[in-house]
Amino acid sequence: MKIGVLALQGAVAEHIRSIELAGAEGVAIKKVEELDEIQGLIIPGGESTTIGKLMRKYGFIDAIRAFSAAGKPIFGTCAGLIVLAKSIEGLDEPHLGLMDITVARNAFGRQRESFETDLPVKGIEEPIRAVFIRAPLIRSVASDVDVLSTYHDEIVTARQGHLLAASYHPELTDDYQLHQYFVDMVTSSLK
Ligand code: GLN
Repeated sequence: MKIGVLALQGAVAEHIRSIELAGAEGVAIKKVEELDEIQGLIIPGGESTTIGKLMRKYGFIDAIRAFSAAGKPIFGTCAGLIVLAKSIEGLDEPHLGLMDITVARNAFGRQRESFETDLPVKGIEEPIRAVFIRAPLIRSVASDVDVLSTYHDEIVTARQGHLLAASYHPELTDDYQLHQYFVDMVTSSLK
């Protein structure tokens, strides 16, 4: 089973390593045609405005919407979560606009620009090691979105069917439990 990591900008190699620890093959996706060869896609952290611009430039908006419409799982982390969201506070237009969540960018404020914590996540046995870097928050979710974790009462992990989103970077430590969770989502989607 192959899982792609959108390789326009951001933490690509780290995601590929975590995918492989979770027992799937990880591949960097640089061209839309490469989406045909994978069964699941990760959109990494980085800078959402830049990732969004590059996605428009290289035709990824329509291609990833079609990938999602085919029921193939997508996992957005940090900036990738922002790119997946239907609504972004302070912006008129979303990027992919696929997941029924409203997000706020850089929502932790200057004091807490970057930090790590052990985060309990619904459906995962042990708390996961989560690295937050200028992280967004999920302000609200539609009724069919499952909240998988909160941090100080704010939503930081959510799932809507085949779409998974995390405010933080799960790929920057050796803890690959959230990648295992996504690999399991992709495996189930193939049955
Ligand atoms: N603050 C970034 C943005 O708004 C996200 C940060 C990250 O991905 N680590 O795109």
